[in-house]
Amino acid sequence: MNFIEALKLKSKLFFIFVLIAVGLFFIGIMGTINLNSMKKNLDALYFGSLVPVIELNSILQIYHSGLANTIYRAKNSEITPSEVESKIQLSVKNISREWEKYESHFKRDKELDYVEYTALEIKATNKYFYKIIKALSDGHDIKEISIVSLEKKISHINKVVNKLIAYEVSVAKYERKKFIDVYDYLLVQVGFILAVVILGVMLISYYVFKSIQKDQTALEVATKRLKIANKKLENVSYTDSLTNLYNRRYFNLVYDRELKRAKRSNTYITFMMLDIDFFKQYNDTYGHIEGDFALKSVAKVLQDILKRPGDFVFRLGGEEFGILLTETDESNSAKLARDICNSVRGREIKHSGSKVNEFVTISIGVVCCIADEALNDEILLSRADEMLYKAKDSGRDRYNITTNVSEAKTAKVKSEEKKEDGKKEFIA
Ligand code: GH3
Ligand code: MG
Ligand code: MG
Repeated sequence: MNFIEALKLKSKLFFIFVLIAVGLFFIGIMGTINLNSMKKNLDALYFGSLVPVIELNSILQIYHSGLANTIYRAKNSEITPSEVESKIQLSVKNISREWEKYESHFKRDKELDYVEYTALEIKATNKYFYKIIKALSDGHDIKEISIVSLEKKISHINKVVNKLIAYEVSVAKYERKKFIDVYDYLLVQVGFILAVVILGVMLISYYVFKSIQKDQTALEVATKRLKIANKKLENVSYTDSLTNLYNRRYFNLVYDRELKRAKRSNTYITFMMLDIDFFKQYNDTYGHIEGDFALKSVAKVLQDILKRPGDFVFRLGGEEFGILLTETDESNSAKLARDICNSVRGREIKHSGSKVNEFVTISIGVVCCIADEALNDEILLSRADEMLYKAKDSGRDRYNITTNVSEAKTAKVKSEEKKEDGKKEFIA
């Protein structure tokens, strides 16, 4: 059944359809042939034997009730001679008509002689009755007719016709038996063919469905693999290859999403902008490869500290990182920023070129607020950037936090704000 497996799903279903159609067509043909043959048998039984028996019986009936009885009644003076004549003529006519009908049916060779003989005997008997009509018209009295010779004639024709009836009945019996035998045989034959066709269709359908099931399973496995591959691809497209942190592309996505969510639920949103201090000097001192290792180490520190599902760490570019926190208030955001500064420094990555510490340090700008519909989408980024600038400006290796997200203040009263924010500044 390899060829079934090689077919496509559409072709497999079409194959089953064709198979069932052929099966039904075959059953139909067989049914028609068998029905026709049964019809022929019934025809032979009915017209070949039963109808002739009825016709012969009706001939006998006319001899008895139409002819013999007429004579008896005439002898008893129950009917007139002219009535006798018309009754005899009518009966003889009816006998001839019935006989003609009987003779018109198909006859077997072996019965032809006896049929011919019967015809002659009927003719002779009818002649006898015509003779009676003649005698009556010649003026003879009905009483002169001998009952003995009438009964002899009737009993003779009775015997002759009955023999033919017996023969036709025996043929009918034979035909009936033949019909029943053929019927039984046809029944077995049709049953067998039906069983073979049904079994064949079921067997092939089973293979087709099994093959479809196999295809389906293969399709499901392929879809599953494709989903996994897609997920991997998606992860790759959202991951920074050096640090394994989320990249800028993912940041754009998450930033929009989380900001909208926070706005809807009026909850805290915190954004941190991080930048390694004197990293240019680090590269200059240790080379770019070492610089990359340092970037990875810092990334690892960030990943280790930020583990909540609502925390996101991104490498935004170069040696700059972004952190997005949800549902974290000002004091917890500040604590986290401090922890990050301490942990990066605590990692003790030697940095002889730094002017603030012997190890690599990081500066952080933090903005934390309760989001509402009025919150400008860009303000968190620009405020975090300002805070980072301030942290750098005021000595590095520290964080600077603000909760002020007013747009007006950002541009116009920048200098005033410097003073205000200075009050909230913490050195890690
Ligand atoms: P500051 O404290 O003011 O931030 O000083 P800085 O030297 O860090 O100044 P800046 O942030 O402008 O320097 C960025 C440097 O980071 C420039 C480049 O040499 C280095 N850098 C950026 N991307 C990579 C990177 O993928 N690998 C390595 N090794 N260095 C990078
Ligand atoms: Mg930088
Ligand atoms: Mg830097």
